[in-house]
Amino acid sequence: MEDTIFSKIIRREIPADIVHEDDDVLGFRDINAQAPTHVLFIPKRPIATLNDLQESDAVLIGKLVLAATRYARAEGLADDGYRCVINCNGHGGQTVFHLHLHLLGGRQMHWPPG
Ligand code: AMP
Repeated sequence: MEDTIFSKIIRREIPADIVHEDDDVLGFRDINAQAPTHVLFIPKRPIATLNDLQESDAVLIGKLVLAATRYARAEGLADDGYRCVINCNGHGGQTVFHLHLHLLGGRQMHWPPG
């Protein structure tokens, strides 16, 4: 997989506002926040898109989701609610090809998305 800006954030080659880190997952604030809370959770091991997930990634993806939901709870978002989004490829609106989960909260979300 080609290097992305997110790999550079993992290696601390470019700055980011990191809010979560464990052995497998990094969480940092989106540079172009779309909500009062907008954090990206990424696996440290680079996986380009949802299409590239293997059966053996099941635990890793579970850890990614749990990191986001635990953070949401710690930030007091759980009761009001929040949104988790993973964009895939062009129609999904993916622009950075290192799989990431957007956690958005702190305002009312709308459906359907644009
Ligand atoms: P996506 O469109 O789903 O691929 O989302 C990519 C997200 O990465 C966008 O919301 C960008 O604002 C965000 N982003 C791009 N570069 C950075 C960066 N250096 N630090 C934090 N977020 C970034």
